[in-house]
Order: sequence, then C-alpha cells, then structure tokens
Amino acid sequence: MPDIYTRQKRHEIMSNVRGRDTQPEKLVRAHLRKIGIRYRANRKDLPGRPDIVVPKAHTVIFVHGCFWHGHECAKGRSLPKTNQNFWAEKISRNLERDKENVRDLETRGWKVLIVWECEARHGDALEASLSRLLRA
Ligand SMILES: [Zn+2]
Repeated sequence: MPDIYTRQKRHEIMSNVRGRDTQPEKLVRAHLRKIGIRYRANRKDLPGRPDIVVPKAHTVIFVHGCFWHGHECAKGRSLPKTNQNFWAEKISRNLERDKENVRDLETRGWKVLIVWECEARHGDALEASLSRLLRA
C-alpha cells in the first residue's frame, strides 16, 4: 500500500493522533456544544475510555483516528513505507480492542457512536447526524 503522505507529514500525523485532546476530538466537542448537547469528556471508568459521553442519550462517542483504527478512507488504508508489518499488526490489534470495547459497552446498555477523524471536519453533516442520533 503506498503512503500518500510525505515523511514529514506522516510524522506529524503519527505524533498528533496519540494525544488525549486531539484536534478531531476538539472539533466534535465543538459541534456538540453548537447543537446544545451536553457531554462529559474522557470517562476513564468505561471500557475503551470513550472520548465523549452523552449521559442523557446514554451514548458514548469515540473519535477515531483514521490511521490508527483502520478506517476505509484513503488515510486509513495507507501504511507508512517502512515497517509495514509492524503497523498492520498494531492497527489490527487496535481493531480487535475496539470491537471488544463496543461489545462491553453495549452489554452495559450504552449506545456507541464512532466518529471518524475524516468526518469531524464536515461540520454541518456531522452536526445533523449527531443531533438526530442524540436527541432520539
Ligand atoms: Zn477516515
């Protein structure tokens, strides 16, 4: 799989997406505030430590980095040029863990929403679907 990013860009992506308050998470929180949905951030006591919890809708939201969580978009499907096996295995472990977390959360009665990093910037579309899903 070809890497669509330069080495510098890739480095930025990799060093950014690990942080606790990554940019996409901030964007999603801003969207929620804008549409008046009350949330809590980083509930550490729930499986997978969801980025956002909306208690009223009994819903948790994960904001997933496309690369780390193997999204079906261009960014999610591209691997770095070096150590491809390492990254592929790491990402597939992440996917396994994601699935387990979703199962555990659903077993506890939570609704689980995944917002992809590449969707976080499409403000209007995202706000519309969050509004629909969280006010149901
Ligand atoms: Zn994506």
